[in-house]
Amino acid sequence: MQSLMMDAPLQIKTMLWRAEHLYGHKEVIARTDDGFDTFTLAELGRRARRLSNVLTDLGVRRGDRVGTLAWNTAEHLVSYYAVPCMGAVLHTINTRLSDEQIAYIIAHAEDTVLLVSKDQLPLLERLRDRLANVRAIIQLNGVVPTEGTLPVPVHSYADLMAAAPEAYEYPDLDENTAASMCYTSGTTGDPKGVVYSHRSTVLHALGLCTTGTIGVSEAERYMLVTPLSHVNSWGMPFACVLQGATIVLPGDHPVDTDYLAIIDHAKPTVLVGAVTVGMLVRRALEQYPGKYDISSLHTLWLGGQAPPIGEMKWWKQHHDIHVTQAWGMTEASPVLTFCGLTTANQHLDDEARFEIFGSQGQPLPLVELKLVDDDEREVPWDGTTPGEVLVRAPWVIRDYYDDPRSAASFMDGWFRTGDIATMTSDGYLTIVDRAKDLIKSGGEWISSVALENALIGHPKIVEASVISAPDPKWIERPVAFIVVAEEVSVDELKAHLKERFPSFWVPDRFEVIDELPKTSVGKFDKKLLRSEFL
Ligand code: AMP
Repeated sequence: MQSLMMDAPLQIKTMLWRAEHLYGHKEVIARTDDGFDTFTLAELGRRARRLSNVLTDLGVRRGDRVGTLAWNTAEHLVSYYAVPCMGAVLHTINTRLSDEQIAYIIAHAEDTVLLVSKDQLPLLERLRDRLANVRAIIQLNGVVPTEGTLPVPVHSYADLMAAAPEAYEYPDLDENTAASMCYTSGTTGDPKGVVYSHRSTVLHALGLCTTGTIGVSEAERYMLVTPLSHVNSWGMPFACVLQGATIVLPGDHPVDTDYLAIIDHAKPTVLVGAVTVGMLVRRALEQYPGKYDISSLHTLWLGGQAPPIGEMKWWKQHHDIHVTQAWGMTEASPVLTFCGLTTANQHLDDEARFEIFGSQGQPLPLVELKLVDDDEREVPWDGTTPGEVLVRAPWVIRDYYDDPRSAASFMDGWFRTGDIATMTSDGYLTIVDRAKDLIKSGGEWISSVALENALIGHPKIVEASVISAPDPKWIERPVAFIVVAEEVSVDELKAHLKERFPSFWVPDRFEVIDELPKTSVGKFDKKLLRSEFL
């Protein structure tokens, strides 16, 4: 028997509708070249419709891809609604990828129009022979240059928007229509395309509203440092609009003191960013004590990699700010788990609570996951047995976009995350490593992540990354690369690690370097470390 319930499609325009009708007065505060562009969610809707008209005039039709090469700006946020709501597909391009990768993904996605920050024009000039499908470029800020060698017209966003009408009737779309695209960053070989739907975007946004810790709500003010150019800024621009929360955007090229100045001005309550951003802000605070007021903040959601417990403790101790983490990936929109305390854990003392905050937390509602061993057999949730995490959820991919490598990532309808983790009996996940980063020394596993966390917890260490080096006796041995705040002896570091791990875990080599290389999304770049130093 079929139900008699409405099959109302899940669409991004419904989230915008809610913000416009219920929270039209709430604000977006976006840093610009010369101050802040502060506007309401009602105005966000008007700007989105104008941009939809602009794109329609430029020939964009349903299903066409519109690429963005831009920072976390008001204009970029507007495209998050203008493009999908008209039935086109927003393809956010990570500006920190290499020229070669960007050329590949613009061609692979067949972008028809590109929305770009002014600083991205030189990149497009370099790629001018590889923009076959691109019909027009819209420069989002600054003065459009009169000279250049680009093969297609470059328009001024401000001029086009000023001339565009404000009315645009958004169509009803099948909820499985593609809404946006993003390419993975960390892989070897060409990036792989992930295509999100209206349905997955709405359900993921609702998922972000359900978690105990972040639980996106109208009362909060979210500063989105995590790039709008990568995995839809972790889905937050959708969840915030859905809930009518205040959005703070850091604009073009923010540096550490910009973050502090923005917090001081816009008074966010939650900052969302990469772990490395949290570390950057901490160091700037230590450099300029008392100069910036950050008392509005109560939570940092740091992700992309596990935030070290030492960092969490520092924020709690010095600013009474709670650091929380989620785990996920481009293929999963991205959030799969979120860390918070269940009622059973509320009585725990601080140390035990930090133990839990160091885990990646519990699956969001509607996320199923299991751990499997090398023989693809499920391993128990006993808090110690590691396995690769397989996931299933309405916001996880079922295929990469037009990619022959796709099949290897799936097993019986489950997505293979490539992350190795343990799970406690009450469903707290701890990522032990990326499958490819695990170190196998003399037949025993060593977790590079656990070693890194312990090293960063040492007061004299600022950053740490551990990779495996070939070894004639043990096959592999861990090597630690560290950035230090002050001189520290190898004996001191070994003693620090021996207190926490079996002695065979302790690296034989510690290399002090000036700075750890970072990936395009701000994580420690182990691939580069391996190729440069080993
Ligand atoms: P990306 O697709 O660039 O977002 O990278 C996803 C990968 O980042 C995951 O597969 C994990 O290996 C890693 N990752 C993301 N969040 C966390 C976290 N909270 N703790 C540990 N690793 C994480």
